Amino acid sequence: RELVGTAPAAEEKALEAALRPKTLQDFVGQSTVRGQLSLVLESSRLRGAAADHVLLSGPPGLGKTTLAMIIAGEMNAALRITSGPAIQHAGDLAAILSSLTDGEVLFIDEIHRMSRPAEEMLYMAMEDFRVDIIVGKGAGATSIPLELPPFTLVGATTRAGLLPGPLRDRFGFTGHLEYYSADELERVLRRSAGMLDMQVDDAGFAEIATRSRGTPRIANRLLRRVRDWALVHGVPLVDREAAGQALDTYEVDRRGLDRLDRAVLHALCTTFRGGPVGLSTLAILVGEETETVETVAEPYLVREGLLARTPRGRIATEGAWRHLGLQPPESADS
Ligand code: ATP
Repeated sequence: RELVGTAPAAEEKALEAALRPKTLQDFVGQSTVRGQLSLVLESSRLRGAAADHVLLSGPPGLGKTTLAMIIAGEMNAALRITSGPAIQHAGDLAAILSSLTDGEVLFIDEIHRMSRPAEEMLYMAMEDFRVDIIVGKGAGATSIPLELPPFTLVGATTRAGLLPGPLRDRFGFTGHLEYYSADELERVLRRSAGMLDMQVDDAGFAEIATRSRGTPRIANRLLRRVRDWALVHGVPLVDREAAGQALDTYEVDRRGLDRLDRAVLHALCTTFRGGPVGLSTLAILVGEETETVETVAEPYLVREGLLARTPRGRIATEGAWRHLGLQPPESADS
């Protein structure tokens, strides 16, 4: 999964950061969220107050972190970045909140994974800009109220539904990010290619875009792999054929499926004659963690109409058989 699944190495991370758009105007696509957000920010600028708390939801790699940075940038405010799993105790959150400066933007990625006590502390902080810090234990414990400067919380989650109602309700604005169209991905790629000093023609961009799973992070990563391939093969201009060959080398097929995706479909179609089969059995068969199959491979396969979830287990659709070049069972019987 080195290509699309795992965390990129340091150099890749630096490149990814360099490719991040810095303003709402440079942010490609997501026109609904962009329009709504620009109203929220403009109004808070006019009022001279910190912006309302913002919740961003959507699959990984669609630009939640980028948007948080843009919000801070547009508000001319400092940005503090943390994540739900890093906040295991209420004390962790208290330390962060008590050191915020006036108007600062606090970004909490994977906010649905925060611990319960921290979450409860956050309710009060969001609503009243105040926290109660408990000092000591048992009978000697006292609570010290602490005033906080006004700040803007930007929370990110893969699904807004994962958040408890009381937390969700305290956000003034919720933006849902959608997968990007091929057109939008091409725009992301054009911008990145310019920054990477790469020559790619229209058909080359289209080829990379259709293999990018509707996700800018993947588009940028595939573009860097195509750059490596073109550099090593001495290809100065990347056209459709070059892009296709490069991505074939990395086992990313024409629909953006990679090795794991195909292994899942293969196991489903050949070992289980199309299913239904339980997720954990499927994961064992392809030698992956259940969570990886469920969060990385499955959503894309479902979206592409290649796999379906049923109460009895996962099943392969007719499209899956065809994609693998196999005969679906019905037509095989007839
Ligand atoms: P995660 O939740 O997994 O951290 P994310 O949704 O926060 O993912 P980002 O880290 O913001 O995703 O974006 C991933 C990469 O995709 C960034 O390097 C950025 O350059 C690029 N990107 C995301 N959205 C856009 C966009 N709208 N226009 C241009 N590039 C984008």
